Amino acid sequence: MTGTLPSYRAPVDETLFILNRVLRIGDHDAVTANLDVSEEALRPLLEGAARFAETRLAPLNARGDAEGCTRRPDGRVTTPGGFKEAFDQSVADGWSNLAVPARDGGHGLPYVVTAAIEEYLNSANQSFCMYTNWGFYGALLMANADPALRESYLPKLVSGEWIGTMAMTEPHAGTDLGLMRTKAFPEADGSFRLSGTKMFISGGDHDLTDNIVHFVLARIDGAPDGSRGISLFLVPKVVAGTETPNGVTCGSVEHKMGLRASATCTMHFDDALGWLIGEPHQGLRQMFQLMNHARRLTGVIAVAGSEAACQRAAGHVRERLQGRAPGRSGAAIEPADPLIEQPDVRRVLMAIRSFVEPARALALWMSLQLDLAERSRDEVVRTRAAGRIQLLTPIVKAVLSDMALDAALQAQQMFGGHGYVVETGIEQYARDLRMLSLAEGANGVQAMDLVERKLLRDDGAGFRDFIAEIDAAIALLPAGHDHIALPMRQALDDIVEASAYLLAARPDDVGYGAYDFMTALGLVALGYMWVRIVLADDVQRNDTSAVRLARAIFFMTHHLPVVTTCLRRMTADAGIISKLPATAF
Ligand SMILES: Cc1cc2nc3c(=O)[nH]c(=O)nc-3n(C[C@H](O)[C@H](O)[C@H](O)COP(=O)(O)OP(=O)(O)OC[C@H]3O[C@@H](n4cnc5c(N)ncnc54)[C@H](O)[C@@H]3O)c2cc1C
Repeated sequence: MTGTLPSYRAPVDETLFILNRVLRIGDHDAVTANLDVSEEALRPLLEGAARFAETRLAPLNARGDAEGCTRRPDGRVTTPGGFKEAFDQSVADGWSNLAVPARDGGHGLPYVVTAAIEEYLNSANQSFCMYTNWGFYGALLMANADPALRESYLPKLVSGEWIGTMAMTEPHAGTDLGLMRTKAFPEADGSFRLSGTKMFISGGDHDLTDNIVHFVLARIDGAPDGSRGISLFLVPKVVAGTETPNGVTCGSVEHKMGLRASATCTMHFDDALGWLIGEPHQGLRQMFQLMNHARRLTGVIAVAGSEAACQRAAGHVRERLQGRAPGRSGAAIEPADPLIEQPDVRRVLMAIRSFVEPARALALWMSLQLDLAERSRDEVVRTRAAGRIQLLTPIVKAVLSDMALDAALQAQQMFGGHGYVVETGIEQYARDLRMLSLAEGANGVQAMDLVERKLLRDDGAGFRDFIAEIDAAIALLPAGHDHIALPMRQALDDIVEASAYLLAARPDDVGYGAYDFMTALGLVALGYMWVRIVLADDVQRNDTSAVRLARAIFFMTHHLPVVTTCLRRMTADAGIISKLPATAF
C-alpha cells in the first residue's frame, strides 16, 4: 500500500501566493534589504529547498522512526542510518544557517522566507529538523557573550560543524524552572564547574558532529532561589582547541512515542567546565529570546505536519475504492468508487485543508512581524510588530499545534484500519506532532501566558489594536462576501466579549477560561488570514481562486463557530471546580 501513496510534495506555488500576494513581502524594506523577493528570485530558492526536502529528507522519515537512536555502552549515541549523510548535505547546501545574520557568517535571510523553507524540511522529516538551527540559536544566545568565547564556538555552530542543545529541563523542574538544581561553581580563572542532571535534552548526544555545545541553565553557587537566580552557561562536550572530553555524559535516550530519530537525552554534568554567557542571574531572560523563536517555529512545524498528513490522506482516498458515491448505482466499470466521492470523507479533508492554508499564512505573517520588529526603518511599524509578536506567540505555538494534532488524527482516520498499521506511514505524523503541544512550554501554560502577560498586563490595549486591524480588513471585503464577513463579525463580537469578561474576572475564573480564550483568539486569527487570502485572490478569478473561496467559506461554517462555544464555556463559574477536593478529579 505504501508504494502507491504519493510522497511529500512541497507546496511552492501556495507559498509564493502567500508571500507575494497575501503578505506582499516585497513592500517591506525589512525584507527586501536582504533579499530579492521577486517571484523569479524566490522560486528557485524555494524549489531548491523543496527538492532537498522531498528527495533527501522525506525518504529517511519512516526509516528514522523505525531505527530510532541508540545509546551505546560507552554512552555515545548513534542516529538512524542516512542521517549523518543528510545532515552533511544540509550543511553543504546551506540549509542549516539561513536566518543567521551575515555578520555572524550566515545567509541573513528574512524570517518570513526562512519559515517557508523550514515548513518544507519539517514536512519531510520533523525528527531530522530537531538537530538543525543551531547556528541561528547560537548567534542569538551568544550575542552578549565574551568575544573570545564567541570566537571559539560560534563560527563552528554557524557553519554546522558543531550542533548545540538547549539544556533547561530537569527531572523535577519542567514548567517551573525556578526549581532547578544544577549548580555552577566559580573557578579562579573566571570559568565555572557545573554539576547536575538535565532531562529531555534534544540532541544531547549524537554522531552527526564531533562536538556538541550545550547551552545550560544553572544556578551559581549562592545565587537566590527561584527563577531569579538562574544563569546561562556554555558547556561544550569537547573544549574547543583541545581533544579532552568535558564532564558531560548521556545517561539515557528517552523512549518516546514519536520523534524517535531525534535523540532526546538525559544528560549528566559532572564538574563540567563551562563559561557564563552575559550577566549572572539573567539566564531565563536570555533563554526566553530563543524560546520565543522556538514557539513561532512550533507553529511552522504544526503547519508542516498537517500539510504532509493531509497530502497522504488525500492521495489515499483518491485511490482507494470502497462503496458507491451517493446516488450512483453499481453499473460503473470499477467495482466501487474512490473514497473521495463520499461526502463525509470530503468533510474531513476539507476540515484539514481549510485549517492548513490560513495556518501557513499565520505562521508566515508572524515571521514577517519579526522581520519588521527587528529591521523596519519605521519606528511605528517596529513597535506595532513587536506588539503583535507579544500577543500572538502563544496562539501560533499552541492553537496551531493543537489543531495540527487533530488534523493528523483525522488524516489517519481516512485510512480506516490501514491507518493503524505502521506501513502506511500516516500514524507517524500524529505521534511526531504530539510533542508540539507538550514541549516549548506546554499549551496550558501558553494559555496562561496569553491571558496574564499579554491580555491583562496592558489592560487589553494590544488585543484591541489587533481586533481593529481585523475589523478594517473585513470592511475591505467586496459586496457578495457576506458568507465570510458575517461570521467573522460575529466572532469578533464574541472574542471582544470574552476579553471583557477576563479583564474583570477573578483569578480562578481567569485560569479556567484562559484555554478557551486562546483557542477562540486563534480561530479568529485564522479567520483573519482567510479574509486576507480572499482579498488577495479576488482580482484573479480562476479555478484555484474558486477552490480557495470554497475552503474559506468552509472554515467560516466549520471551524469559526467554535469561538462562540469557547465564549460560553469559559464564562462558566470556575468556583464549581476550584472548590472541589483533589480526589474529585
Ligand atoms: C520531545 C521533547 C523534546 C524536548 N526537548 C527539550 C530540550 O531540548 N531542552 C529542554 O530543556 N527541555 C526539552 N523538553 C522538555 C519540555 O520543554 C518540558 O517537557 C516542558 O517544558 C514541560 O515540562 P514537564 O514535562 O516537566 O511538565 P510539567 O511542568 O510537569 O507540566 C505538566 C502539565 O501541567 C501543566 N502545568 C504546569 N504548570 C502549570 C501552571 N502554572 N499553570 C497551568 N498549567 C500548568 C502543563 O501545561 C502540563 O500540561 C523536551 C520535551 C519533549 C517531550
